[in-house]
Amino acid sequence: MYKRIYFDISGVCNAHCRYCVSGKDSISGSEHRKQGKFIDIETFSGAITHMLSKKIIAPDCEVILYSWGEPFLHKDLKMIIDILNRNELFYSLSTNASICISFNEEQISRLKNITFSMPGFSQDSYDRIHGFKFDRIKNNISDMVLSLRSSRYTGPINLAYHIYKFNLHEISLAANFAKEVCINFVPSLAYLNGYNMFRHFLTKAMKPNQIEVISTEVFTEHLGKMQRQRPTDYICPQFERLSIDESCNVLMCCGMEKTCGDRGLVGDLFKMDFNDIQERKREMTICDECTSLAIDYIGHNAIGIVDFLRLYGELFSIVDYDSNEKQMGGDIYVYGTGETADALFGSFFNNKLFNVNGVIHGQSVEKNIFFRGHKVENIDVLKNNPSQKVLIASLSSKSIDEIYHMLRREFKITNPIIKFEINI
Ligand code: SF4
Ligand code: SF4
Repeated sequence: MYKRIYFDISGVCNAHCRYCVSGKDSISGSEHRKQGKFIDIETFSGAITHMLSKKIIAPDCEVILYSWGEPFLHKDLKMIIDILNRNELFYSLSTNASICISFNEEQISRLKNITFSMPGFSQDSYDRIHGFKFDRIKNNISDMVLSLRSSRYTGPINLAYHIYKFNLHEISLAANFAKEVCINFVPSLAYLNGYNMFRHFLTKAMKPNQIEVISTEVFTEHLGKMQRQRPTDYICPQFERLSIDESCNVLMCCGMEKTCGDRGLVGDLFKMDFNDIQERKREMTICDECTSLAIDYIGHNAIGIVDFLRLYGELFSIVDYDSNEKQMGGDIYVYGTGETADALFGSFFNNKLFNVNGVIHGQSVEKNIFFRGHKVENIDVLKNNPSQKVLIASLSSKSIDEIYHMLRREFKITNPIIKFEINI
């Protein structure tokens, strides 16, 4: 039985994204989008009953109500949620936040998580990708977060920030916004959303001008490396998941856009039980092509901020140095042992400007602990060496300022402090 399934209730999206097959301005054309529709309530209810009675899904299954479309466009979204609640199933949502919907306590009682996708933090970035009014999106997100929390939703709310080449300087603004409205900030590299679109890019079966446009906006330089890194025994996680489109077709996986046609089609959900689905999935030849291009590996190893900093660290620079002496370089201590500090460490080693002397841990350290080969020390080491610089790093300038004031006020640190955040 599946414990987690993708069930697209809407095959329609109102955004203009160039790099998604559902986008109105998709570089892949309109073939996928033209076939999109909404599932009707009776069909959805019948599909849930069928999957439970045939033991296709577990009784506590999580139904992810999106894949290719915008679920908030579905006029009966709340009725769909009622059906899931009545069947004691869990669900997750993701939205581009163009439509503001509030849910009552009952409706969100089985919501596992909700994600707001974001292609940048300015009108310019929204004009390039989603095509919405940026101020309105910000207000919608704030309003929905407030409404969810006042309906006693305590689960995760995520801001999925898609990193493009043109929006790097906006990452810290988005991180600050997430902090202000108290939601998780989850940045990751934007990718080409659609199996065929991605395949055509990797095999250079696209027009050269399309490849050029993609390469100027989307980070693709690491893809060759990832293809080479794919372990030969890698097992695609989609074999453990179920993907259903809004017409109740079972798809090989959530990457199967409509132009994949029969190659991506497992069959009619209502004509299959769990074993039929598993058996048919094992026969699908499209997986051979997919694995040979490492699309399975790349697709399931999203590049989050830490890997991104490691891959593209040379793009970043110091934005603030709080000393009168503008002289850069010399001995530094890195403050923090978190993932961001870890990733940033790499870029500081590479630029050879600084000599990293050690790592400072916010709490007291009693025994010998090492972080990337450097001794983790108590804050007192700085008091004894006031000329040693301290590096503080975060994606959010708000967090940087908080740490800065804490070091100055709480710990009475007088050392020069280098503030490091993303700056292109
Ligand atoms: S990426 Fe998301 S918001 Fe953009 S067109 Fe695709 S489904 Fe819609
Ligand atoms: S191997 Fe590729 S086509 Fe097959 S299920 Fe995984 S991602 Fe989908």
